[in-house]
Amino acid sequence: MRKRIAILGSTGSIGVQALDLISRFEDRLEVVALTAGTNVDLLVEQAQRVRPRLVCVADPDRGQILKARCDPLGIETAAGTEGLERVAAHPEADLVLSAIVGAAGLRPTLAAIRARKTVALANKESLVMAGELMMREASQRNVSLLPVDSEHSALHQCLRGERREEIRRVILTASGGPFRLSSQAEMEEAGPEEALRHPTWEMGPKITVDSATLMNKGLEVIEAHWLFGIEPERIEVLLHPQSLVHSLIEMRDGSLICQLGPADMRGPIQYALTYPDRWESPLPGLDLVAGPSLEFAPPDPARFPCLRLAYTALGKGGTAPAALNAANEVAVEAFLARRTRFNEIPRVIGKVLEEHVPVLADSLEAILEADRWSRRAAERILARGVAA
Ligand code: NAD
Ligand code: MG
Repeated sequence: MRKRIAILGSTGSIGVQALDLISRFEDRLEVVALTAGTNVDLLVEQAQRVRPRLVCVADPDRGQILKARCDPLGIETAAGTEGLERVAAHPEADLVLSAIVGAAGLRPTLAAIRARKTVALANKESLVMAGELMMREASQRNVSLLPVDSEHSALHQCLRGERREEIRRVILTASGGPFRLSSQAEMEEAGPEEALRHPTWEMGPKITVDSATLMNKGLEVIEAHWLFGIEPERIEVLLHPQSLVHSLIEMRDGSLICQLGPADMRGPIQYALTYPDRWESPLPGLDLVAGPSLEFAPPDPARFPCLRLAYTALGKGGTAPAALNAANEVAVEAFLARRTRFNEIPRVIGKVLEEHVPVLADSLEAILEADRWSRRAAERILARGVAA
């Protein structure tokens, strides 16, 4: 029987790559439901190709257009938040690929866990906001959360057969983004064009800016903490501009275990979709002889303050990481809309974190309230000017 997959965020970078991969395994994988934020054209095109049972557009205003275009295909449609949750809990899905960007992914991802679906998780923001809640709900229902993020996929692979208590530390690798070698002054002047020019990965705009500030790595530290139960003091970050070593684990006997592969997200996507099996890859492997030399260096905390902010939020605990995430989303959006400068992003987040009084993040309501509070605080700081 084919493994049946629902994709949250099928029109994004991860979603499109997942569909490409799935089309290469037509005899073993089947798509039962798809969602998009707003891009109805691409969603309909995907639906024509893969013929799912259900498609959903998150923007409720576009529900009617989607319906009009899918009725002739005999495909059921839905819209809005409830529609996303219906896709996440689709009775015919075995696995849900969570690939919406940002906090919008939290509710549907939680709905997938509650419906006891195996979750292939690309949406790291949900785990940053609600790590404790998601891990608890998943473990209560015996649901597997399989990382799609390349670093966490690497750690998952390194940890197969290892005992968690024998880990000394974890090293997450980071490409360093487009500003790895830039001066503070150059970064002050950088606009969206420069920040969106990622050296090794092609991704959606939000995560690409996060990679330029290194907030992406900060979010991944929090993600690793929840996924693998590792204390923040034992999670380190190293710049590795070739993006071929996807992360490493040091065991207590000093042995370093790492995973290498091409900088192509279809590798970690395939791993999560086929786990616990490994299938023949349709992609070319890594040529170690022809490839570049591997370099590693510590990140510069002065030029990349977002990394420290993420550790600070994780240390504060409770709703602080949800506040960090929301402030980051607001600041990145403002930067992309040219309403604020690149180096203001960490300043906005830092101010929001200083103001935030964390409470226990033990319910969806508490987390969403922190998210709303933090968005308002970030907008207020942006409106009056970050320096004020
Ligand atoms: P993207 O911007 O390319 O795509 C985002 C998807 O989410 C799209 O389908 C979009 O329609 C949908 N979406 C956006 N806002 C929405 C909303 N409010 N409600 C419902 N749907 C909405 O992003 P991406 O690069 O594919 O990243 C998706 C997730 O995967 C992010 O959490 C990112 O951090 C993570 N991730 C991505 C990569 C990568 O290579 N792209 C690598 C690792 C992790
Ligand atoms: Mg990553």
